[in-house]
Amino acid sequence: MSWQQLDSILKEQAAEAEYYRTQPPVACPRDGTPLLEGPPGQPGILYCPMGDFQYPRDWDPDTMAGM
Ligand SMILES: [Zn+2]
Repeated sequence: MSWQQLDSILKEQAAEAEYYRTQPPVACPRDGTPLLEGPPGQPGILYCPMGDFQYPRDWDPDTMAGM
């Protein structure tokens, strides 16, 4: 493997990690319950029906992204 190939792989992985950081979660990072949308009139809010997580309020991409 050449240095050029290695460099391009590292750049791809960084781009992929950045992509996942910008994606909202689909499931609660704490218990894995699928998140629900709401409340009405507040687009972009996702919440866990168990009541322990709300996006983006409780979202920490450093520890939760990619889940
Ligand atoms: Zn939860």
